[in-house]
Amino acid sequence: MQNIIVIGAGTMGNGIAQVFAIHNFKVSLVDISQQSLDKAMQTIAANCDRMIAKNSLTAEQKANALANLTTYTNLSECAGSADLLVEAATENVALKLQLFQQADQLCPPHCILASNTSSISITKIAAVTARPHKVIGMHFMNPVPVMKLVEIIRGYATDDETTQAIMNLSLQLQKSPVEVNDYAGFVANRILMPMINEAIITLYEGVAGVSEIDTVMKLGMAHPMGPLQLADFIGLDVCLAILNVLYEGLGNPKYAPCPLLVNMVTAGKLGVKSGEGFYKYQKGSKELVLADRFAKK
Ligand code: NAD
Repeated sequence: MQNIIVIGAGTMGNGIAQVFAIHNFKVSLVDISQQSLDKAMQTIAANCDRMIAKNSLTAEQKANALANLTTYTNLSECAGSADLLVEAATENVALKLQLFQQADQLCPPHCILASNTSSISITKIAAVTARPHKVIGMHFMNPVPVMKLVEIIRGYATDDETTQAIMNLSLQLQKSPVEVNDYAGFVANRILMPMINEAIITLYEGVAGVSEIDTVMKLGMAHPMGPLQLADFIGLDVCLAILNVLYEGLGNPKYAPCPLLVNMVTAGKLGVKSGEGFYKYQKGSKELVLADRFAKK
């Protein structure tokens, strides 16, 4: 495997492209937005500089990684020689189905088609292609260059050869792959999201405040950040979307999103990306400040 296509140059796509490029794969990074591509290249260069400062990368390795990367606004310009395509475009079912149909038509028959989706069924994505045995989930964690885990999701039709190839490839990227089956939320989000939802319900029912809940989970369970801060970091809209997938996919009321989460998303309080969720976020400041609504009167 040598030629990798990464579709989507956002938060996850640029990290995935960086990791492949540093490990000497030829990477074609594809996005409909030239602005996203430009920003991704700047982010990758800045991340490499940070690694150089920490002695985990040399200037020569940075130059090689950047030389391994080419950007495109159209998949048809680079699909012909792909060995693996990793899709990391916006989390939207209709968009992913359309992208996989297109990728199936443009990529050579041996090419494996992987998705970095957080929650959408791999079996459903695979079903729109003529190669469902070569479709698999490759779920990297954020931030990709730092986090070791890759959740490898076997769709209903994914074959052993494809799974083994992606497990081996993840090891080559110095990641730790874990194989799981394709059911709503896979493993990571099936366990993480109910915990975040329960933290929000605990707040909603007035059992404790935001900082009390986060402190209990940080100091009591040795979590690096509390569940409410983590929800802000992931994006409250993303948490709500994943909880809805769990609720609908597993048909169990225990996954119903907390009404407070629904209200906050409706009000545009999405966490770090909108500047406010359970906490307020100011550019350049790492200090945690409770959002007015949750601050003690
Ligand atoms: P993002 O919004 O940061 O980036 C998405 C990118 O996809 C944008 O640059 C957008 O221009 C591009 N895009 C949209 N339509 C496209 C198309 N038709 N062709 C090419 N590019 C297109 O999103 P993200 O947070 O990087 O998430 C990407 C995927 O990764 C999603 O499936 C998400 O569920 C998954 N994921 C996200 C996280 C996270 O913490 N953000 C973690 C794990 C997995």
